[in-house]
Amino acid sequence: MNTILMNDDIPANIQRQHEDVSPVDRARLTGQTPVVIWFTGLSGAGKSTIANCLERKLHAGGHHTMLLDGDNVRHGLNRDLGFTEQDRVENIRRIGEVAKLMTDAGLIVIAAFISPFRGDRELVRRLLAPGMFIEVFVNTSLDECERRDIKGLYSKARAGIIPHFTGISSPYEAPERPEIVLETSVATADECADTIVRYLHQSV
Ligand code: ADP
Repeated sequence: MNTILMNDDIPANIQRQHEDVSPVDRARLTGQTPVVIWFTGLSGAGKSTIANCLERKLHAGGHHTMLLDGDNVRHGLNRDLGFTEQDRVENIRRIGEVAKLMTDAGLIVIAAFISPFRGDRELVRRLLAPGMFIEVFVNTSLDECERRDIKGLYSKARAGIIPHFTGISSPYEAPERPEIVLETSVATADECADTIVRYLHQSV
């Protein structure tokens, strides 16, 4: 079982080390405002596709970016975690901490994770300064995701081969006040990415 260290549990003899170069200093060199663009939605909703398209556009515009994607993180940093509720919570907590470190380095972080629990996403939001967490709800219906079933996961979940599958045997809690909602049934991935670029220009 994983032991999750809460802030209150940090041993008293571990203190913060002073750093002469601050996150603000690092950001100034990049000439950009570091933010976390956090995609949430069902499996197959379009998070990875739009996130990838968005990074391509930002990169082409001269921005320093980093893409964190669900499956990739589970191959490395979070390879010890499964899909039980406790492991999903820890999965998002670690990703949130990594995303925060990357914003401290001055990067625009693009994170694409199902992140089904509202409380976990709020936890990441609270790790960051106000305005730095941009929640993007990729609002694709379960019916449409299941029809796409690009990885064949929904049919396996329906057959009971994959337990704890979001939307089928595990809940998905849609955001209540996301900064951006994308409707992939009416807009292409490219148009969705443009919506986010416009938001960044107007609001960040
Ligand atoms: P997720 O990362 O949310 O699991 P993926 O991006 O891996 O989803 O897969 C989404 C699938 O839906 C891809 O095959 C993509 O081509 C398709 N798709 C169809 N329309 C859209 C759209 N408007 N935006 C994003 N993906 C779309």
